[in-house]
Amino acid sequence: RSERSTVNVAVLGATGSIGTSTAEVIAHLNQIDPENGWRLWAASGHSNLEVLEELVGRAARDGAAPQRVILSDPSVISPQAAAERFGTFGIQVDGLRFGAEQLVDAARDPQVDVVVAAIVGRAGLESTVAAVQAGKRVALANKETLVVAGGLVSEQAANSGGQLLPVDSEHSAIWQCIADSPSPARRLILTASGGPFRSASAAEMRDATPEDALAHPTWQMGRKISIDSATMMNKALEIIEARWLFDVSADQIEVMIHPQSIIHSMVEFQDGSVLAQLSPPDMRLPIQYALTHPRRLACPAPPLDRRQSWDLSLEPADLERFPALTLGFEVARVGGTAGAVVNAANEVAVGLFLSGEIRFTDIVPLCQKTLENHTFEQRPCLARLLELDHWARQEARRCAERL
Ligand code: NAD
Ligand code: MG
Repeated sequence: RSERSTVNVAVLGATGSIGTSTAEVIAHLNQIDPENGWRLWAASGHSNLEVLEELVGRAARDGAAPQRVILSDPSVISPQAAAERFGTFGIQVDGLRFGAEQLVDAARDPQVDVVVAAIVGRAGLESTVAAVQAGKRVALANKETLVVAGGLVSEQAANSGGQLLPVDSEHSAIWQCIADSPSPARRLILTASGGPFRSASAAEMRDATPEDALAHPTWQMGRKISIDSATMMNKALEIIEARWLFDVSADQIEVMIHPQSIIHSMVEFQDGSVLAQLSPPDMRLPIQYALTHPRRLACPAPPLDRRQSWDLSLEPADLERFPALTLGFEVARVGGTAGAVVNAANEVAVGLFLSGEIRFTDIVPLCQKTLENHTFEQRPCLARLLELDHWARQEARRCAERL
C-alpha cells in the first residue's frame, strides 16, 4: 500500500449534505483503492461546529487529520476556543483558519489535487472560481457558480486547464452517458422527480408551509436545494448548469418528470438512440465518480434491487404549474448577467419563504420580477456579476415588500 500516491482533497462546505457524504466517500476510497490513497486535506464549515468536529475526529482516527480546518464564519467561536477544540485532534494552530478568504486560499493550495465545491449558493463562488483558475480538478456540487458566472468560469477553465467535474446527479448521469463518444449528443434530457408538489394543485402550492416544501419524496438534501426542488427552480438552475458544463444550447436541453429518481438523466444522439444512467437516489455514487473518473470502484451507495419490479415512469414537465422551468430555459438562452440576477433573487426568496415572510408561490414570480427590472448585459466581468448579485438581492427584497 505504501507505493500508492495520495490524492489530497479539499472539501469546501464539508459539514453539509454533500460535504459529509464526500468525507464518507474519501474514507471509503482510502480503504479500497489499490492505486491511490485518499485524504481529506481540508474541510470547511460555516456555523455547524459539531459536524466539523465529528468529521475532523473521524479523519484523525482513520490516520490523517486534515491539514487545514476552515471556519468560514469566524464569529461562531474564538480562535482560542477553536484551537482547544480542534487541537485535541492534532490540528496545528497554523492549520486552523478563519474567514471566507481562507476558502480561496485552500482552493488554490499547491498541495490540493481536487477541490470539492460543496458550499451552497453564491457563497461558494469565489472559492470555486479560485480552484478553476488554479487549474485544479473541481468536483462541482455548487451549481450556483455556473448559474451566476458560467460563461466566465468555462473560459477560465479552458485557459487554466482546470476541470469541472459534475457532482450533481443529473449532470453526472449525462457525463457518464456521453463517456468518450466521438459523436456529440443531440439532446440532453434532464430528469426531475417533480418534488413534493409534483401533483399538487395551484391552491395547495399557494398554502404550502416550509415543512411541506422541505419534505422531498426521494432525496435527503440541504434546505435551500430542497426548496429549489419544490419550486423546480433546482431544475432551472440545472438547465443553466448543463448549458455551461456540456457547452450545448438551451434548445438542446429538455426536462422530463421521473418521480422515482432512478433514471438520473438521458442523452439522445444523432441517430435517435437514447442512453440513460440508472442507480438508486444516493449522492455518494456521483460524488465518487467525480473523484475517481474515469475509473469505477466499489461504492458505499447500494445498487438497484433486481428482486423488485421497477416501475419507472417518464412524463413531460408541466410548464404552467412550474414556471421556474421557463425561466431556466430563458436564462440558459440569453446568458450574460441574467443568471446572476435570477440566482440572487432566488436565494433571497427562498430565505423569505423559510422565514414565513412570503408564500411558496411568490418565490418564482419574485425571480421573474427581479429579472424584468434588470438591464441585461452580455459580457460582464466577475466584479460586475458580484455587483449585480448585490443589486438583485435588494431588488428582490423590495419587490417582496410590495406583494
Ligand atoms: P447544505 O446546506 O447541506 O450544506 C451547505 C454547506 O455550505 C455547509 O457545509 C455550510 O457550512 C456551507 N455554507 C453555508 N453558507 C456558507 C457561507 N456563507 N460561506 C461558506 N460556507 C457556507 O447544502 P447541500 O445540500 O450539501 O448542497 C450544497 C451544494 O450542492 C448546493 O449548491 C446544492 O445545490 C448542491 N447539490 C446538492 C445535492 C444534495 O443532494 N444535497 C445534490 C446536487 C447538488
Ligand atoms: Mg440534481
